[in-house]
Amino acid sequence: MEKKEITVALAGNPNSGKTTIFNNITGSRQHVGNYPGVTVEKKSGDVIYKGYKINVVDLPGTYSLTAYSEDEIVARNYIINEKPDIVVDVIDASNLERNLYLAVQIMELGIPVILAFNMADIVKQCGLVINISQLSDLLGTPIVETTGFKNKGTKELLDEIIKLKENEGKSPYKIKYGEEVENEIDRISRIIIDKKIILKNLNPGWVSLKLLEEDMEIKNQLQKENEAVFPFLENEVNKSINHLKNILRDNPSTIIADARYGFIKGALTETHCETEIEKVTASEKIDRVLTNRIAGLPIFGLLMWLMFQFVFKVGAYPMEWIDTGFSRLADLVSNVIPAGLIKSLLVDGIIGGVGGVIIFTPNIILLFLCIAVLEDSGYMARVAFVMDQIMHRIGLHGKSFIPMLIGFGCTIPAYMGSRILDDKKDRLITMHVNTFMSCGARLPVYILFAGAFFSQRAGNVVFSIYVIGIIVAVLVAKLLRVTRFKGESSPFVMELPSYRIPTLKSVLLHTWERTWLYLKKAGTIILGISIIMWILFTFPAIGANYSTDYEAEIAGVEASFEAGSLSEEDYKAALTEIEAKMGMEELEYSAAGRIGRFIEPVFKPLGFDWKLAIASLSGIAAKEVIVSTMGTLYSIQEADEETETLREKIANDYSPLKGYNFMLFTLLYFPCMAGMAVFRREAGWKEMWLQVGFTLLLAWVVSLIVFQVGSLFV
Ligand code: GDP
Ligand code: MG
Repeated sequence: MEKKEITVALAGNPNSGKTTIFNNITGSRQHVGNYPGVTVEKKSGDVIYKGYKINVVDLPGTYSLTAYSEDEIVARNYIINEKPDIVVDVIDASNLERNLYLAVQIMELGIPVILAFNMADIVKQCGLVINISQLSDLLGTPIVETTGFKNKGTKELLDEIIKLKENEGKSPYKIKYGEEVENEIDRISRIIIDKKIILKNLNPGWVSLKLLEEDMEIKNQLQKENEAVFPFLENEVNKSINHLKNILRDNPSTIIADARYGFIKGALTETHCETEIEKVTASEKIDRVLTNRIAGLPIFGLLMWLMFQFVFKVGAYPMEWIDTGFSRLADLVSNVIPAGLIKSLLVDGIIGGVGGVIIFTPNIILLFLCIAVLEDSGYMARVAFVMDQIMHRIGLHGKSFIPMLIGFGCTIPAYMGSRILDDKKDRLITMHVNTFMSCGARLPVYILFAGAFFSQRAGNVVFSIYVIGIIVAVLVAKLLRVTRFKGESSPFVMELPSYRIPTLKSVLLHTWERTWLYLKKAGTIILGISIIMWILFTFPAIGANYSTDYEAEIAGVEASFEAGSLSEEDYKAALTEIEAKMGMEELEYSAAGRIGRFIEPVFKPLGFDWKLAIASLSGIAAKEVIVSTMGTLYSIQEADEETETLREKIANDYSPLKGYNFMLFTLLYFPCMAGMAVFRREAGWKEMWLQVGFTLLLAWVVSLIVFQVGSLFV
């Protein structure tokens, strides 16, 4: 019977134990030769095992597969040209990070790889713990532990070789180099295919990657075999390289190397491997603290808390200036334009509504500034690691936390960002809970209400809302995982980019982009809806349909004042009170007032009157609209604008408990109509309606409990 043959190449860093393992496998059946054309010694041998003849080649030791040294080229060319069935990468497992750098490059060649984690004895001695099975899942390659000089693990390695051969070797995980680089790889691959460029044994994707890395060996080979079209290809590659240099501000080869290290660091942090670090870089030192399993979460909490203190304390000053500016503008318009509908539209509808939203621009700028700094420095990517433990416990991957973090800015890109999750269930769960990561549009509502009721502690109060949002997200995710989306999270490597000092330019640019969006929204959607709300609050006009004869009341008060039985102070107070009652009746008579009254019973158990009810309803368009609606509403109600700010008016009407509860309600129901349109596009009608229904119900139930229980104590 003819023996089935398997060719295996042993690759690995110098001194990782390749030759030792080679000897373990082949025993005395070895012969020494040379690789063709070079003086590098080639050792090969074979063994008969379980009916297979396994031919083994001991490749030269290398740290990388770039074409910088003869050894690297020999090792790479052997794998490419001789196409062994399997590459066994012998790894010094006590120095994983550096050794895996070669491994990921071998994996990229698309040939089945087995990782031999050699030096298992040293790993044990150093007390390092490696979650082998998890790491193997993440990398998509089998891993066998060996101790070369004691001939341990050799049999297991041979078994794995046969198993992989018989399964027709699944191909290992391929690193993703980021959208920009991947786009250029695709572009060059298409050119290679279109121009019928001769590659011999290579695949277009890998060649494109190597061309972007400016690999001389590959360039020379292509040039030799494609003399006519090569200059065209080279020109296109240079275009890609320059394009990448422009947008990423670094050489593609550096970016590609960084992505590999980021991938490895991510995979190792994920599997809790502590590598023996020869020289601890600053970045690693920082990571030991920031992604620490115990301290990481409190540090994240502290940073968030500081962020909201900053957003509030610093934001308060410019907010006052803008607020004063709008009051002056309202006074000016009131004085210039005669009383009537036009004046009311300008003062109550537009200045009161849109102005009320624009006031919060400084806070928005500060919030986005903080987020931009945290993102650009590389910290946000770490937060996903910090949350990883919790996320795993609820059946999700820490990677899900990345789109959720985007949700602090705006929920819409967060929904789209959920695409990074390959598994459909993971993606849907993440989308459903993204809602609870409080977006920038809700911030004005919080600032308004927290400012009204909790002045000095407003920052803490808003911080608590954000924390509650995260907690609700985690709980709902768990709920969805055990009910609608049963299953395990799929393995995924999160990249851990190195820390960078954010550049002023990029931070300002990111902040400006988002601020501009906020202002644009205020000038379009919010302006439009403010006008609609003003119309709804103004018509039908009450005319003479007041419940009481207020004219007579006013006349009565005036008479008492003139007769001297009322002080001037009391007289003014009495008039203001009557006017407020009239204003209230006018509002309630309007279309919006009737709608508010109609839905009020649903909101009553939560402690909300019809005004908060209609504000919540208008907030479906966009959460900032809640603020503009409150602004318009109070502006109409109290016709003669005194110095009272919107915050003071709200503080007069409601209790802190109601105010806090309203913030909670605003947090919990779905973000906005535009958000739901995106949700539908990404997940379909059914999921969208479930999202709408579920979040409304959740908001209602939570607010009900908070108000009813809270009322017992307050
Ligand atoms: P190569 O350069 O990759 O071929 O590595 P070698 O096979 O020459 O091994 C380098 C050194 O590591 C030798 O001194 C081996 O005895 C030693 N070595 C090999 N495997 C192990 C192992 O599992 N544990 C320890 N502690 N040493 C090993
Ligand atoms: Mg050797």
